[in-house]
Amino acid sequence: MASAVLVLNCGSSSVKFALYDAESKDRLLNGLAERVGTPAVSITIKFPDAPVTITDLDQYDHHGVLARILQELEGWRAERGLEITSVGHRIVHGGEEFSASVLLDDEAMAAVERCSPLAPLHNPANIAGVEAARASLPGIPQVGVFDTAFHQTMPPVAYHYAVPSEWYADLGVRRYGFHGTSHLYVSSAAAELLGRPLTELKMVTAHLGNGSSLTAVRNGESVDTSMGLTPLEGLVMGTRSGDLDPGILAYIADRTGADVAEITNDLNKRSGLLGLSELSNDMRELIAAAESGHEKAQLALDVFAYRLAKHIAGLAVPLGGIDVLVFTGGIGENSNPIRAKVLEELSFLGFELDAAANDRTVRGASGQITSAQSSAIALVVPTDEELVIARDAHRIAQTTTSLLEA
Ligand code: AMP
Repeated sequence: MASAVLVLNCGSSSVKFALYDAESKDRLLNGLAERVGTPAVSITIKFPDAPVTITDLDQYDHHGVLARILQELEGWRAERGLEITSVGHRIVHGGEEFSASVLLDDEAMAAVERCSPLAPLHNPANIAGVEAARASLPGIPQVGVFDTAFHQTMPPVAYHYAVPSEWYADLGVRRYGFHGTSHLYVSSAAAELLGRPLTELKMVTAHLGNGSSLTAVRNGESVDTSMGLTPLEGLVMGTRSGDLDPGILAYIADRTGADVAEITNDLNKRSGLLGLSELSNDMRELIAAAESGHEKAQLALDVFAYRLAKHIAGLAVPLGGIDVLVFTGGIGENSNPIRAKVLEELSFLGFELDAAANDRTVRGASGQITSAQSSAIALVVPTDEELVIARDAHRIAQTTTSLLEA
């Protein structure tokens, strides 16, 4: 029997999953369950030869959905002699409890629960996913991979907010950062691409997708990042505002009568590119609209790129300069006009664009987009968070199994 790793990313109403060959780390298939928790739930499994969509589910919570996914995979796995030997779970918030991926035993699950108040929409769904996987695959090691873990190396000067001390001591109010799995993956892939050790590089990684964040990476460790207690801080995003004056909350509440929950919802869902453009949160649509003269789409692009450049330059402080800037995520990997604009704004840091390389490095391509004379290097590196989860799950499951056997 060959070993396979099941990777799970459970949201409150969705389950994303993928199956990896444990040795080669090739992705064998993936899929998605949507509207989990409602009678309209559906599961799509992208078998390489013939994708299937299943809608006849009578148990539509995380448990029911996962049990059905595993049942559907059974025949396909058996034909190929594949056995699931570990499960890797994406977990959003690890607070100060987790600085690396871990085996999710009872003690670790209690710690994940303790982090739930920090991510009340995400951690409970992640926990439901772990419980469902434990029930459907009893005895198989479950491994947690945390969005926040990579940033636990940030020094106090980077993670403290200047707020009353007891907010931190009693309530855990500090900067945690997110997208850690992506920043970790692309920083080491970038060093590999350059053929230089991470210890030599002052690097900024820019994960630009619907959610966006930056990380300053020194000696392969996160020393600062743009997201904070929640993923709302930092860059302008698809529908999130990023940084703003906290005084705006009281002002809007006063003027409109909206409460904190409503305003927070607006800052998360009705702001960012969507709020500025009044058109879309989708970068492709905004670039096309701006080209045909849509002024608010142009404004949204300009604010996005300006803030991005300003934040990147700010990370020169913890790094003492920037040698390498890495673009990743849907926008970072595909949106050559945004990359060009940002590098132009950052020319004072020594970035000189290679326009032809920038234009051809899209749709999954990786490589350098600055010229040979450029003193600072910009790269595009497609991210692969699922692969990191699969790797960690297999590695940790193997250690656990060998400990049990010893
Ligand atoms: P992600 O959250 O990483 O999937 O990224 C989503 C964002 O990437 C959206 O704003 C998309 O418009 C953007 N994106 C994806 N493909 C392209 C493309 N070919 N050109 C520009 N933006 C793109």
